[in-house]
Amino acid sequence: MRRLLWRLLIVVAAGVALFFWFGANLERFVNRVDAVVLPGVTEEALRIHDESLVVDLHADSLLFDRDLSVRSDIGHVDLPRLREGGVALQMFTAATRMPFTFDIHEVDANGSDILTVGFVAQRAPMAGMGPRDRALHQAGRLGELIESSEGAVMPVRTRADLDAAIAAHRENSDVVGVIFGIEGAHALEGDLDNLPVLFDAGVRMIGLAHFFDNEFAGSAHGIEKGGLSDLGRELIARMEAMGIAIDLAHLSPTAIDDVLAIANKPLLVSHTGVRATCDSPRNLSDEHIRAIANTGGAIGIGYFELAICGTNPTEIVAAMKHVIELVGDEHVALGSDYDGGTEVAFDTSQLRALTQQMLDDGLSEESIRKIAGENAIRVLRRTLPRR
Ligand SMILES: [Zn+2]
Repeated sequence: MRRLLWRLLIVVAAGVALFFWFGANLERFVNRVDAVVLPGVTEEALRIHDESLVVDLHADSLLFDRDLSVRSDIGHVDLPRLREGGVALQMFTAATRMPFTFDIHEVDANGSDILTVGFVAQRAPMAGMGPRDRALHQAGRLGELIESSEGAVMPVRTRADLDAAIAAHRENSDVVGVIFGIEGAHALEGDLDNLPVLFDAGVRMIGLAHFFDNEFAGSAHGIEKGGLSDLGRELIARMEAMGIAIDLAHLSPTAIDDVLAIANKPLLVSHTGVRATCDSPRNLSDEHIRAIANTGGAIGIGYFELAICGTNPTEIVAAMKHVIELVGDEHVALGSDYDGGTEVAFDTSQLRALTQQMLDDGLSEESIRKIAGENAIRVLRRTLPRR
């Protein structure tokens, strides 16, 4: 009996050790870089890239317990790698809840939260927090990065901040602007009084839904896949008044229609693909691409499987070219979904490979500059509060 107890104890201890080992190495499993052969970067691509303002609309790096001021070979984004990739402005987004599912196209909002398991395994403080506090915690982590950078990481909360960060980056390419958003309005916990709390923490973009339907809007992966609720309409009016951009990524087609009917400002899709090149329910139809372009908006093309049905730079550029063919080059942007539990072909330090691919696939220098960042900046100028 005693021997059996010992054996049981050893098995349990090994299980616990394995769980925390998995937690410590979580990003090695979930945020991977594929072994894809990237195009060699020519002088011309190098020049165009380094003269462009590079802006990425979506990275979930704050979700993981990694010091973003230190260069890592894990995951996709940290400050040294942003600098190596010549990035001028990075949007960091806070994911705060993700129900566990075997079917990504029908996610039950009441399912147990897979992020909690990850946080416990990482022994991260977010394990015991609700969605709002998880968003605030991630805002705090970004704040620490800004603080420790001694001016080299500039927070962008207003149009004046945006102009200042761009000017500083032009002066010294080591300066990187950062902007904060949340992935899924469920972080408001159904209470619009949480909107000013999140705004004060720096939130300037909200993806209305993530992988499940919430009180505000239906998700492309939800069970109902419905439109906007009355509360969702109220949220949009308040976001536009405050200066928070609306992100349509992950929204159900019906919810996108509902937003298009009432939005007054240009819309963003922070990380997506297009159905024409990758027919997944989370990707945009041609009709929606045209309508989003009509708002003056920008569509961030993702680098991951669910967005482009592959990870190869050629597949990213194919999605970009489809949008250009439909609505011109003013509405395409970069929307990596770095560190979002994604497998990609290159991390942010290797972004010049994407510029090379755009050049190889016949995009003009002018189009490349717009896609690299000018389009995203134009939209942010229209959505950020003046001061
Ligand atoms: Zn996402």
